[in-house]
Amino acid sequence: MIHLKNVSKTYRVPIRKAGFKQAVAAFFKREYRQIDALKKISLQIETGEMVGYIGPNGAGKSTTIKILSGILAPDEGKITIAGLDPFTQRKQHAKNIGVVFGQRTQLWWDLPVGDSFELLKEIYKIPTAQYEQRLSEFIHLFELEDIIQRPVRQLSLGQRVRCDIAAALLHQPKVLFLDEPTIGLDAYSKQKVRAFIKQINQKYQVTVILTTHDMQDIEQIVSRVVLIGHGELLYDGKLDALVGKYGGPQRIQLQFQGELLSHASYTILEVTQRTAFLQVNTNLADVIRTLQQTIIIDHLEVFKPTIDDVILNLYQEYRV
Ligand code: ADP
Ligand code: MG
Repeated sequence: MIHLKNVSKTYRVPIRKAGFKQAVAAFFKREYRQIDALKKISLQIETGEMVGYIGPNGAGKSTTIKILSGILAPDEGKITIAGLDPFTQRKQHAKNIGVVFGQRTQLWWDLPVGDSFELLKEIYKIPTAQYEQRLSEFIHLFELEDIIQRPVRQLSLGQRVRCDIAAALLHQPKVLFLDEPTIGLDAYSKQKVRAFIKQINQKYQVTVILTTHDMQDIEQIVSRVVLIGHGELLYDGKLDALVGKYGGPQRIQLQFQGELLSHASYTILEVTQRTAFLQVNTNLADVIRTLQQTIIIDHLEVFKPTIDDVILNLYQEYRV
């Protein structure tokens, strides 16, 4: 569905120097600085996949989304999405994709939401029957009954994002790009947005690329994670494998009777008469077997690494 091969993008930014003389000089001869926002990114995404596109600020996530949506041309490399080149075949491509930028709305600020939807119907030439069916489905699904008559500027952020996602899906795109859709939302709205995304994916096999800093988004929505840092692709794989590899050591808490001895298979982090907090150095079964040779375990609690641990470790490992 989505193929990227060696895609690179460099921005040229004029260097501004302080002072009037320098400004005058710069007017005649501009100096530029290059920012390599993307460096030879290669990626393949299949129909119906949900991919979390993560990385710290400035990593190149939004640049990727802009290139994939045909807003920006890459400097190098080849992209096809549903068989089309997003930039040179922009008009056809637009029919295949929906884009949501959490940071700014794609809707008309002063118009009632419903009017924005009508405009999109005209822009995308959506047949009336299809439009009405989609609209009533989304009004129900995204809970838009009470807000569809209100202008966008009067909506809360959560309401606005729901409208934006509905708007991006009206024309039945095959691919949905979501650039930080949950940014700034309260916990309830985040939960709603996640549920919508999952439902849309399951019902219509929409391929989803989601950029986010919210690790619960990743945990709850996607199974595949692509990590980018300084414009380079650093990891592409299953979330589970990522947790196993970068979650750091597993830890367990025990209530026990007997004498707890040191052993290479675990590290004792804290110990009292009857309780201990251990780091597992080999694997859990191994550690329990060893422990049971000298103590009786009354109670055992296992601490799994959180997804935030994973991401912090990853960023550190790759120095991004
Ligand atoms: P992210 O979305 O991961 O935070 P971006 O794709 O927005 O990253 O930015 C990647 C890099 O490109 C950053 O260094 C950013 O400052 C730079 N950049 C982004 N957009 C522009 C632009 N329009 N002009 C110049 N530099 C830009
Ligand atoms: Mg961004």
